[in-house]
Amino acid sequence: MNDLLEARLTPDRGTAAFVTREINAGELLGTLAGPRIETRNRYTIERDGHHYEPGAPVRYVNHSCTPNARWSGHELRALRTLQAGEEVTFDYTETESGFAAPFLCRCLSENCRNVIGDHSAQEANHSASPGASSAVSRE
Ligand SMILES: [Zn+2]
Repeated sequence: MNDLLEARLTPDRGTAAFVTREINAGELLGTLAGPRIETRNRYTIERDGHHYEPGAPVRYVNHSCTPNARWSGHELRALRTLQAGEEVTFDYTETESGFAAPFLCRCLSENCRNVIGDHSAQEANHSASPGASSAVSRE
């Protein structure tokens, strides 16, 4: 059971995960406790070449091009202080080497890449956007 996150239905983004109290930068939000499966789906998270399907509420954490959380190993941690009730997001392109199907991003951030999962567009955007490189340090 995870009492830091709660899943709620949103009007425009399906089910999303929200923090139930203020969270400190770096605080643990959830772990990849779900089963390891062979094929990716919309809920799976890729780590070390394997796909894990986390249970609720972690499975409902949405993508954002300007995320406030990041997977480090099998732990999802806050990138900054989160206010109680704030939606938690991470950048799906930081974990996935591919996507079952490209999807339209609705994160509305000014860095939004709009279509997520179109690999050629993603690579082009990465090399073109200043500041994006510093965000990638998972190894
Ligand atoms: Zn976006």
